[in-house]
Amino acid sequence: MKRTRLIVGVPLLAVPLLVVAFVDGGGLSAVGMHTFAVADAIGLVGIVIGLVRYRPRFVAPWLCLVGVGVVQVSADIAITVGGLIDAAGVVFLPRYPLYALALLLWARRRHPGRDAATWIDLGIVGVALALVSWVFLISPQLFDGEHHGWTTGTTLAYPVIELVLISLGLRLWLGAPQRTPAMYLLGAALLLYLAAEIVFSTFTVAGEAAVSDLWNVLFLVPGPLTAAAALHPSMARLGDRVPETTASVTGRRLFVLAVVAAVPPGVLVVQYWRGADLHVLPIAAACAALTSLVLTRMWLLVVEQRRIAVTDGLTGLNTRRRFEEELTAQFDRSRAIGVMLLDVDHFKQVNDVYGHQAGDAVLEELAHRLTKAVRAGDLVARYGGEEFAVLLGSSDLATTEVIAERTRQAVASERFVVDGGLELPVTVSIGVAVWNGTPDIEAPADLLREADRRLYKAKADGRNLVVTT
Ligand code: GH3
Ligand code: MG
Ligand code: MG
Repeated sequence: MKRTRLIVGVPLLAVPLLVVAFVDGGGLSAVGMHTFAVADAIGLVGIVIGLVRYRPRFVAPWLCLVGVGVVQVSADIAITVGGLIDAAGVVFLPRYPLYALALLLWARRRHPGRDAATWIDLGIVGVALALVSWVFLISPQLFDGEHHGWTTGTTLAYPVIELVLISLGLRLWLGAPQRTPAMYLLGAALLLYLAAEIVFSTFTVAGEAAVSDLWNVLFLVPGPLTAAAALHPSMARLGDRVPETTASVTGRRLFVLAVVAAVPPGVLVVQYWRGADLHVLPIAAACAALTSLVLTRMWLLVVEQRRIAVTDGLTGLNTRRRFEEELTAQFDRSRAIGVMLLDVDHFKQVNDVYGHQAGDAVLEELAHRLTKAVRAGDLVARYGGEEFAVLLGSSDLATTEVIAERTRQAVASERFVVDGGLELPVTVSIGVAVWNGTPDIEAPADLLREADRRLYKAKADGRNLVVTT
């Protein structure tokens, strides 16, 4: 419960700050600026205490956040003491690249694999946001005739870094199987920073950029929130690797992407309707980028669906679909094809006596042995539940027979060791059929039927046998 008090208590520290700021007009007068400095210092001290207390194994991102705190407190002091208020945009800027670096380090640590689909989705959102911020925030500021030099630099830098922060934040947020209190608190802090910056830019464009406005209190809360995140034990687990999930296309995700794809035409209509600059080139570029990203995303989906269709989930072997496709293809171009159909002997007993899990483990090990027993180019497939098929290209009867016998022995010669050291004797029966251009076999189905007939003959003759006639 002490912990809960801590999480609730630290953000509450922000309340008196908010009151002071409010009474003070939320402004950047001496008292107002001190309020900002105190809020930012709470964040910095909170992280340091959290680091000492919980000693996270992956410390680099937290050190970046310490850097963020140092930048902020220094900037607050520089502005209050040094009177650098006009340069606020510049002195505060370095905190965001540091923040982005922290998020990037966490993202790489939590998701070491390359999840192209998720990055493409983020790219799609990024393009739409970039267009909106260009049309409504950046370009009005750049071309109002008053900006030059470093002001132009920061005008451009802020939206870019905000985009990066949004993408990285979303990557971490959406990729988390479960969200810890530390994640919620850090997420809220980041959201408030972004909200404050976006409100600031909007007011700047509207010509009402008064740094003394009340909304400046938005900048007061992230510090205490960050401290609360660092003071929760879950802060130490932020760098833990997240189990990989394939970014599935849920209805909700498709809906969001559809809405996002409608942004460029939407912007065009809004500008036309306002009688404002149409930004034809940026909008055309955004449309082209979105189309390419969506097409790439679809291509990845097709590739992934195809992989699922031809790969058996349990054994990783080819599926029956793939086997039949390949058999048909080879039937049209080869002169000799061998086919082996295998069925595990008395497999029901394995399930009945040792359970389904042991049965599954046997199938996995069997798949491994089959793949090793046949030749490199042969196609091994899971044909049904505990039935397997092997397609041997350019293989005459003698070769096919040798490989079939080798396969039978690879299974029967050594017991199968499954979970908990259980040792099971497993055997298979194999039916073999070969086609070398003879007219008695007209289609792939005939070849399979023949192999199947021989498989059942092997069963009838006592099992653990190869039958070739
Ligand atoms: P036979 O020697 O005549 O082949 O006897 P059998 O017991 O092996 O009989 P059959 O080939 O008909 O057995 C099929 C059994 O395989 C029934 C089913 O419970 C089991 N099975 C099928 N697919 C799976 C699977 O994916 N996992 C497990 N554990 N069992 C499976
Ligand atoms: Mg069977
Ligand atoms: Mg069987």
